[in-house]
Amino acid sequence: MHKTFEMNLPKLIEHFHSDEKCRSYLEAMRWPKGIACPRCGATTISLIQKRDQFDCNSCRYQFSVTAGTIFHDSKLPLWKWFLAAYIMTESKKGVSANQMKRMLSVSYKTAWYLCHRIRAAMKEGTVRPLSGVVEVDETYIGGRRKGVGQGSRRHKTMVVGAVERGGRVSLRVDKRATKKTLHAFVNAVDSDNAEAIYTDEWKGYRGIGDENTRHETVNHSEEEWVRADVHTNTVEGVWSLFKRSIVGSYHQLSAKHLDSYLDEMAWRFNNRDNPYLFRDTLVRLVGAETLEYKELIS
Ligand SMILES: [Zn+2]
Repeated sequence: MHKTFEMNLPKLIEHFHSDEKCRSYLEAMRWPKGIACPRCGATTISLIQKRDQFDCNSCRYQFSVTAGTIFHDSKLPLWKWFLAAYIMTESKKGVSANQMKRMLSVSYKTAWYLCHRIRAAMKEGTVRPLSGVVEVDETYIGGRRKGVGQGSRRHKTMVVGAVERGGRVSLRVDKRATKKTLHAFVNAVDSDNAEAIYTDEWKGYRGIGDENTRHETVNHSEEEWVRADVHTNTVEGVWSLFKRSIVGSYHQLSAKHLDSYLDEMAWRFNNRDNPYLFRDTLVRLVGAETLEYKELIS
């Protein structure tokens, strides 16, 4: 039962159709060496069967497997959390709160809050710098009104991204595409020994290479898109997926939450070949800090 397995919908239903099953899976995940009191660390614990709670024999603290975790929500059954996490990991373009509301039969507010908490758990902390060949590009999100076309960049939010060929993506919201912001981003996400950085010819990228890392550009303004293996098609593919997800799933996206949508996108992209993505997302959820509703709407 607690073995790792690749997830699909029939398996999800088979293994996690009840709160009891979800709870015992979380217990194994949270306490692989046996249940420990979250308050004092003692391992002599009694079970209060009726309330799905544990009682610490040392300090008498009563707790459940979700105590102190992001799962702690008195209203939402655990199996709906599991289902939501599965849906979000499996949907390449993401899922809107409205769609989640319909799929889980919960209120819009519950669905919205749930999606944001799962998204928050997907945020990756310190990660290995990108190496090898890295494509870097920037794009502009939002600010477009119906029938007005592209609109002015002044009303949009810039997102800058770097993708390691065959590897990970790093995405960040930044103020403006200046030489300073672009260079700072690349320095933060790229390994000093990256083999190459490929960008378009935008002057903000000038001087981004050094003796260890060559910098090559494709001249989009002169309709040059690919020169041998020099192109930025991978990172542009990330933009197009993200923009389709905004249009299709999220409808409107406030700049405030843009970072967390980028985290969600990066989590899926960086785990695109991970057969245990569902399990690994649950691991994140077990380890994630609680996120208050009022923090999200402040
Ligand atoms: Zn205790």
